[in-house]
Amino acid sequence: MSRALRWALVCLLWACAPAAFSAAADPAAAAPAPDRANDLNNRGVAAAQAGQFEAGAAALRQALRANPSDQLVRRNLSGILTDWARQLDREGRTDQAEPLLREAVEHDPSNTSALVFLGDLAYFHRSDFTQAVGYWKQAYGQLPSAARRTIADRIAQAQRDQVIERQFAAYRTTHFDIRTAGRSQEALIPLGQVLETVYRAMYEALGSGPSRLTVIVYPEQDLHRTYNQRDWALGFYDGRLRVSGGELALESLRVLVAHELAHAFLHHLYGHMIPTWVHEGFAQVQEGERARYPEERQLEQGIRSGALWIPLKWLDRRFSQPSGREDVGRAYVEARLVIEELVARHGMSRFKSFLAALAKGTPVETAYDQAFTPNRWARTDQSILK
Ligand SMILES: [Zn+2]
Repeated sequence: MSRALRWALVCLLWACAPAAFSAAADPAAAAPAPDRANDLNNRGVAAAQAGQFEAGAAALRQALRANPSDQLVRRNLSGILTDWARQLDREGRTDQAEPLLREAVEHDPSNTSALVFLGDLAYFHRSDFTQAVGYWKQAYGQLPSAARRTIADRIAQAQRDQVIERQFAAYRTTHFDIRTAGRSQEALIPLGQVLETVYRAMYEALGSGPSRLTVIVYPEQDLHRTYNQRDWALGFYDGRLRVSGGELALESLRVLVAHELAHAFLHHLYGHMIPTWVHEGFAQVQEGERARYPEERQLEQGIRSGALWIPLKWLDRRFSQPSGREDVGRAYVEARLVIEELVARHGMSRFKSFLAALAKGTPVETAYDQAFTPNRWARTDQSILK
């Protein structure tokens, strides 16, 4: 769920607070405990709205002690703990996020946002598939039908991984938990080194990153990459890096790792709101210099000249519903050229402010106009590369 929506939820609950109390209590007979709880509730929500989650949660916990039966306070506390956990996770303090989420669910078992997040943490950070599936299933029954598909996909993927990875040995480096079947730890040392080198460069460029990531080295026959051989054909992006055993010895290993790691960083830092073309463009830019196929160079020329240009507002559809193989290729090339151009023209800090606005739920048109002024989204129907 987006952060903006969560805030809307908290604001909505907060707005009802005084009404709920005045309706329940006769002013003359008003007991001091509900008054105090109401006051602490409003103070706590205001603190959280100002980004002070710790102070907000402390006030709400006090409010709950003053009036333990207050369901509104319970739901608000649960919401604030979830937002606080999200912030800690973004800052790489994931270990501190989990206890807050468990407390959030204790206060409000219908907090699906906290349940899904707990499932994600169990899955991505601890590879605890059983627990992840448990949390996701708990959320599933309470979700609106439109949101169920994503969770159903996650449950299915985790159940597949559970089977594949049960016997996989783990090799740990500073930031990675590499899982593989039938390979010695020595064989994984070069992969570990490439991962850590690329991680450091990306951390420096983006200013932060995920504290730990899981890498799965699959047997060759289980490799199913999509068109351009970089992305896995998954129903959802699940934050894990996947490499085939056959790719370990390739010179292009660094390119693959950079691409996959870029997705992991974006996903960690900016959540689910980043359009596919931004994800794919950024991931390809991170690959650095590499040889281009003649087919790619031809597409590049056509897109630059405008003849093969896809208006940016249609670009995501070329990834999700391509009419053919060439269509996807074109979408990848254009995404790369556009992100390359935007970063070259406006600098990394402007590009990061674009990502931050998208993460907050700002529509892409507005985020683009704000970050890349005087360029306008309306003009991206035509090639911006000419
Ligand atoms: Zn990709």
